[in-house]
Amino acid sequence: MLADFIWEIINLVEEKADEKAKQKIYLVGGAVRDFLIGHEIIDYDLLCEKSALALAEFLQACNYAQIISIHEPFGTVKIELNSYQNIQLDLATTRTEIYKFPGALPIAQYPQSINIDLARRDFTINAIALELKSNKEFEIIDIFDGQADLKNKCLKVLHNLSYFEDPTRILRAIRFATRFNYKIGETDLQLITEALNKPEIQGLAEKIRGIRIGIEIKRLLELNNYLQAAQLMSELGVWTLLSRENLIINLNPAYLPLKFWQARLAYLLWNNEHLLNLLEILGFEKKIQKQISFMQNIIQQNSLNTPSIKLIKEINNLDLDFINLLFSLRPAWQNKFELLEKALPKIKPVELMEQGFSGIEINQKLESLFQENLKSLTQDLN
Ligand code: ATP
Ligand code: MG
Repeated sequence: MLADFIWEIINLVEEKADEKAKQKIYLVGGAVRDFLIGHEIIDYDLLCEKSALALAEFLQACNYAQIISIHEPFGTVKIELNSYQNIQLDLATTRTEIYKFPGALPIAQYPQSINIDLARRDFTINAIALELKSNKEFEIIDIFDGQADLKNKCLKVLHNLSYFEDPTRILRAIRFATRFNYKIGETDLQLITEALNKPEIQGLAEKIRGIRIGIEIKRLLELNNYLQAAQLMSELGVWTLLSRENLIINLNPAYLPLKFWQARLAYLLWNNEHLLNLLEILGFEKKIQKQISFMQNIIQQNSLNTPSIKLIKEINNLDLDFINLLFSLRPAWQNKFELLEKALPKIKPVELMEQGFSGIEINQKLESLFQENLKSLTQDLN
């Protein structure tokens, strides 16, 4: 079932819109796909035949919604509905997209016919539109036979150059295949291989400062079964999008507990000497890059063998997921670290001050107490 607000918008347009705002309105993309297979719809993307901005301004004038942002180059507008908490809708104008080079941010031309807009999309199952009419009626527009592919649980692009023109679609194919348990069509597997063999595509993330690639990798690694997706990426050779070099990928199911995509990616690429460079290219925040670099250093230097209070603090300051990653990579460290924490002196710096210690002496005293505690704990163990 489609949400009530969709029909409220259609009725408002039908009853009150002037010439500028009155137009055909379509539901498109993932919402139609999810509606047809009976999944819950998360995001509603509405497509306007003439102008998304005209519709947004009309809904704002009716006091039905607020405009949140306007993205002129693509003819898209984000609105928030007044009577529904936290519901935002993306309104787009029918458009075509031109890619100047593989993976480029496309240039949009709008308005276009609905068929032209559907033809710029990624997969047949995502290129179905519902033309929304009054009385909760709709007409399905399915010029690429996406419904048949939904039935066959199969992902197919709309034309042979699609993966080459926008290689993020390769990541999207893997994501949808993993998420819905669909197969990637035979021809598509071949098209993916062909695209990945082109020199322009290899190491693409480095060339275009892979933000778009980063976004799709993030969405892929946020899947619960991300290891399956990563495995498929390896089988198809998709990691070459990140680097021309042959990346070594860890695919050990023992590491599944990692929750955040950054930790998952760091784990998958851990053995790669260019890891930090790749993370930078993919748009990782500095704070995350720092944590990973710290982990690399302490693993390389086997720092837990020469522990200090500072080291324990630094490890405890890592995000929980990175602590988990650290212990996944060095399982023997988990017990060792617990022992080190037990050895931390209970006495507080203020108490040491009261005993006459000052400045740097305080830390030195704490450190020597820590080392003594550690010695006796280790002796007890032996
Ligand atoms: P999800 O449920 O994961 O959001 P979705 O299909 O809605 O899936 P979005 O990334 O939200 O995916 O994109 C919305 C729609 O925009 C897609 O269904 C598709 O029609 C189109 N689209 C998105 N990315 C691309 C792309 N790289 N190339 C062509 N069409 C795309
Ligand atoms: Mg979506």
